[in-house]
Amino acid sequence: MTTCLISLGGNLGDVALAIDDALRRLQRNPEIGVLQRSSLFRTQPVGADAGSEFVNAAAELETSLTAHQLLGQLLAIETELGRVRTIHWGPRTLDLDLLFFGNAVINDSPRLIVPHPMCWYRRFVLDPLAEIAPHFVHPGKHVSVVELLRRLLVRPLPICLVGDAKQVEMLIADLQPKFPNADLRCCHRLRDAPANDAGLVIQLAPITSSTFAVWSHHIVWLDASGHPDRQHQDIADILCSAGL
Ligand code: ATP
Ligand code: CA
Ligand code: CA
Repeated sequence: MTTCLISLGGNLGDVALAIDDALRRLQRNPEIGVLQRSSLFRTQPVGADAGSEFVNAAAELETSLTAHQLLGQLLAIETELGRVRTIHWGPRTLDLDLLFFGNAVINDSPRLIVPHPMCWYRRFVLDPLAEIAPHFVHPGKHVSVVELLRRLLVRPLPICLVGDAKQVEMLIADLQPKFPNADLRCCHRLRDAPANDAGLVIQLAPITSSTFAVWSHHIVWLDASGHPDRQHQDIADILCSAGL
């Protein structure tokens, strides 16, 4: 049996009912047990097309399934409950994400990545998770859920943007007034970034795979270098996810 943590959330229809329904469907599977569930959290939508306020929760499961089989069950339940994927990060009846599968680290991109790559800086994931599994240790970052959350609560929250100075200065000029609880800073080189302080170090300049291998283990670092054309929106989404 493997103990797992999942997140549940949506913003279309009666989400509280959909969450209850999803957990009942999971419990009905003889290979899955629902051990704990959090209370419901109302959260602000993240993303330009996300729609209205979300309801979020987290649950702890135990299962004899593999991680891929469990993900298959989660996606099937999303569909059964009426989820239709139209726009990326669009409004949804229910989204079920596999956050952790024991201490497994799985990189079968894009099908299954565990731990969920964005779970560690999303308040709408960490707040419910801290209720049911505060001391669970993130197998990649090696700190507990409650510690990940605590690091995001500092005000103003230091946010270091690593990239081309001119481009970063322009991003900061636009984003700083919109996120007064963040302290946005420019960092030319990754090695100048504060590796273990509270806050986030957001990578914008392209990096090599060896740099990625080293930095992906740092508690505060995240890679947003993938889509140079929409970095402005990506950073705004990250800051919003982090509760800023
Ligand atoms: P985000 O991943 O940013 O939370 P999302 O939940 O809206 O976005 P979806 O459209 O629900 O994204 O999922 C897209 C695909 O992500 C799924 O079809 C699934 O195969 C894949 N995926 C990869 N890793 C995971 C994971 N840990 N949990 C859930 N889905 C995952
Ligand atoms: Ca999700
Ligand atoms: Ca999902």
